[in-house]
Amino acid sequence: MLTNFDVKSIPLKLFNTESRRKEVLKPLDDQHVKMYTCGPTVYHYVHIGNFRTFMFEDLLRRVIKFLGMKITHVMNLTDVDDKTIKGAIAKNVSLDEYTQPYKDAFFEDLKTLNIEPVEHYPAATDYIDEMIKVIQSLLDKGFAYKGGDGSIYYAISKFKRYGCLSHLNLDELKTGASERVASDEYDKDHVADFVLWKKYDAQRDGKIFWESPFGPGRPGWHLECSAMAMKILGPTIDIHVGGIDNMFPHHENEIAQSEAHSGKTFAKIWMHAEHLIVDNKKMSKSLGNFYTLRDLLDKGYTGKQMRYMLLQTHYKTQLNFTFAGLDAVKSALQRLQDFIERLQEVSTPRGNEMADALLEKAAASFANSLADDLNISQALAAIFDLIREVNTLIDQHQLSKPEADRVLEFLKASNSVLGVLSFEKAVAEIPSELHEALEKRQQARKDKNWAMADTLRDYILSQGYLIEDTPVGARLKKA
Ligand SMILES: [Zn+2]
Repeated sequence: MLTNFDVKSIPLKLFNTESRRKEVLKPLDDQHVKMYTCGPTVYHYVHIGNFRTFMFEDLLRRVIKFLGMKITHVMNLTDVDDKTIKGAIAKNVSLDEYTQPYKDAFFEDLKTLNIEPVEHYPAATDYIDEMIKVIQSLLDKGFAYKGGDGSIYYAISKFKRYGCLSHLNLDELKTGASERVASDEYDKDHVADFVLWKKYDAQRDGKIFWESPFGPGRPGWHLECSAMAMKILGPTIDIHVGGIDNMFPHHENEIAQSEAHSGKTFAKIWMHAEHLIVDNKKMSKSLGNFYTLRDLLDKGYTGKQMRYMLLQTHYKTQLNFTFAGLDAVKSALQRLQDFIERLQEVSTPRGNEMADALLEKAAASFANSLADDLNISQALAAIFDLIREVNTLIDQHQLSKPEADRVLEFLKASNSVLGVLSFEKAVAEIPSELHEALEKRQQARKDKNWAMADTLRDYILSQGYLIEDTPVGARLKKA
């Protein structure tokens, strides 16, 4: 990309929830990262809080590639759990018929947000045999037992590392739990034991169940991720990611199941995205501040604007979604696009040779910021600083065309991470007679022939273009 700057030499530091510090990512398999991210439960349209997490995962994935590594990324689709079964029964359709439209909608939403497709999207219902195998292994090794209700449970007291991720200990769980023991909790040895195989109940499950050596039933949600991750990526993965609300108990349980089954470390680095809140409040249907992506598209916002909004806040900070914030995003994107257009128009043969140094500084700051636990705000600041500095050079006719092209090259490279810029030349489409009309208008104004200048301006407007006055003269812009 740039002369003296090699992004491939920059180590990627990521904050590991388990060790509570930043660690350098060193993939097990040389320069090929294996990553697992918990996907959506396909019982409804996905809300923007979930997309905050998926956007962070997209950023992580793109940064890994930007820094020269390869990636195999798995995101599961939970298509069997209490909610999908309940929904299917209420509509009197099969589980597949119920979840397919939501799966389709999810992939459509990913496209709208320009979230890169990952390598594997396993659906839980395609891996039931694998899940049964893992449960059998946990029973054989003494980590699982049959509860009073006939379901299979995981005995967390058997797994010494339980609590390693959330930094909770079993005693705390016991005290906390004893105050809220529900009736169905008596079927388990320990209140925090969780279900691996839920016994079929005709009343609750309708016709939805699978046969297994432990009787008819269905897998527990926590187990689904462990089984799919290990089956597709192997016993140890480099990075496991999810929303902060998945850390406990979901990810804690994934570790317990996977490591008891394989005897190996399940994930080397655990990462969690903070919540999205709306107007400083928790997003909820009862507060009327609950949005799916579709709700916001219906209000006239674009996928690009939503992408930038979800992307621009560091993943470990709560993202406060507001409509004022979305409007600010609109102008930030406009500023980026205007700059690209301006660069495309530069025709000055000679610059003052300042641009390359500015560019090198911006590129280094952009890459180093992202490599430092995905510091996106600093990376974006590097770009906006460059815009300000280079605009000054253009204003003073001190940026050459080759320099402008190199700035454009950098922006294209940065867009492999940002995914919000467009490089289609709007300028080239402006008909030459309009350029001529603009020149004539400038001349008419110099000659103080105001009537002529107005006629030419009206002609330009009638052709769907605006005249924008800049410090170095006027330019055309599509209305
Ligand atoms: Zn999961």
